[in-house]
Amino acid sequence: LLFSDLGLSASILRAVTTEGYTQPTAVQSQAIPTVLKRQDVLAGAQTGTGKTAAFTLPMLEILQQSSVRGRRPVRGLVLTPTRELAAQVEESVRTYGKHLPLKSTVIYGGVGMTPQINALRRGVDIVVATPGRLLDHVQQKTLDLSQVEMLVLDEADRMLDMGFIHDIRKILALLPRQRQNLLFSATFSSEIKTLADTFLKDPVHIEV
Ligand code: AMP
Repeated sequence: LLFSDLGLSASILRAVTTEGYTQPTAVQSQAIPTVLKRQDVLAGAQTGTGKTAAFTLPMLEILQQSSVRGRRPVRGLVLTPTRELAAQVEESVRTYGKHLPLKSTVIYGGVGMTPQINALRRGVDIVVATPGRLLDHVQQKTLDLSQVEMLVLDEADRMLDMGFIHDIRKILALLPRQRQNLLFSATFSSEIKTLADTFLKDPVHIEV
C-alpha cells in the first residue's frame, strides 16, 4: 500500500515524501481512509507505530478541504497528557501541513498565558493542548471551542492515569455535538472503554 492510495492531497503527500516516508505504517493505512470517510475511530497503538501521522494527516486533509480564511475558528483539537507530547504533535502538524494554508498552535501549562493568548488571537485552525491549560483559556474567554469539527484524544490511557478525566469531560461538554472523534490509546482499561462509549459514535476499531 502506498501513501498515494490513502486519499490525501498532493500538498500533504509532498510533505510526507520530504520526511522520507515511503510506505504508510499499519495504523496509518487503517486510520487515514477511515478518518477521511468521517468515521469515528478507536485505535490501539503504541508510540513508535506512526500514530501521530495517523491522525494528523487526515485531520489536515479534512480541514484544508474547508479552509476558513480570515477569522479562523479552531476546528481541530488534539488533547495530549503532557506538554512534551503536545509540542511534538504540534511540530508534526506543522511539518505535514507546511504546504497548506492552515495554522496551528500548542497550549500547555507551566508557562505564561500571554504568548498563548497572542497566538490564539492571531487565529489558528488547529490547537494541540494539555487539558488543564486548555480549560484555563476557555474560562478566560481567550479560546472558543464552539466550532471544533474534529477531536483527537492522544494517549488517552496516560491522560486518565494523570487524572485528567474531569477536565476531559468538561472539554467534551464545550464542543459542538456534531463532530468527528478519534481516540488513541496504548491500553484499554474499563475506564477508557467507559470514556470511549460516552463520546465515540459507532467507532471503527483499529488495533496494531
Ligand atoms: P509516532 O508513533 O507517531 O510517535 O511515530 C514514530 C516515528 O515514526 C516518528 O519519528 C515518525 O516521524 C516516524 N514515522 C511515522 N510514519 C512513518 C512512515 N510511514 N514511515 C517512516 N517513518 C514514519
